[in-house]
Amino acid sequence: MKCPHCLVEFHATAIIKPLDNDADGPWYIERYLCANPGCLKNILYLKNGSHRYIHGNGTWDLGNVASSRLIYPKSSSRPPVPIEVTDYIAQDYLEACLVMNDSPKASAALSRRCLQNLLLDQAGVSKGDLSKQIQTVIDSGKLPSHLAEDIDAIRNIGNFAAHPNKSISTGEILEVEPHEAEWNLEVLEALFDFFYVVPERARARKAALNAKLSDSGKPPMK
Ligand SMILES: [Zn+2]
Repeated sequence: MKCPHCLVEFHATAIIKPLDNDADGPWYIERYLCANPGCLKNILYLKNGSHRYIHGNGTWDLGNVASSRLIYPKSSSRPPVPIEVTDYIAQDYLEACLVMNDSPKASAALSRRCLQNLLLDQAGVSKGDLSKQIQTVIDSGKLPSHLAEDIDAIRNIGNFAAHPNKSISTGEILEVEPHEAEWNLEVLEALFDFFYVVPERARARKAALNAKLSDSGKPPMK
């Protein structure tokens, strides 16, 4: 399974921790421990369904699962943030995802701040107004046209013209327009891929090729 904390795949062995029954029947915690030495965190599911310990072979016989919920780490319905993304940017994005259902306003404030930091980190914009930073990136021609349109729509859907604070104080909690908070997250995902994941994969491919070239006594690819 893929660990929801560190996103590293590991060979998972479930440990069952029975809980008391209620009107819905038997409950238990299904626990996994991430094997990545840099993580070693619990992954816990709360499940409702029959479970019986088989003493002979030390395993659990699990019946139909009536309900299953990941209770740790707290999850969101969005895909996980790629590991290549800079930590403080990933943190804002993750929190924007986690609070999305409870507070779209808080989510949009975090995602605007996340976008601004991403543009500062990766797109060579200078500090200041988010709307102008978006324009600078679009004008630079560095983004493929579909991404340029996506990022431009952040301003339009968010109605930045009517709410200048969205641009000036990106972390401020302000009213959100319909679909604004989700849209910001969708665009951030696409930008993560473009700015962090694709270049890192290209770098890894090149490093692997150069290792092979070096093994066969050839000069590296520039
Ligand atoms: Zn992990």
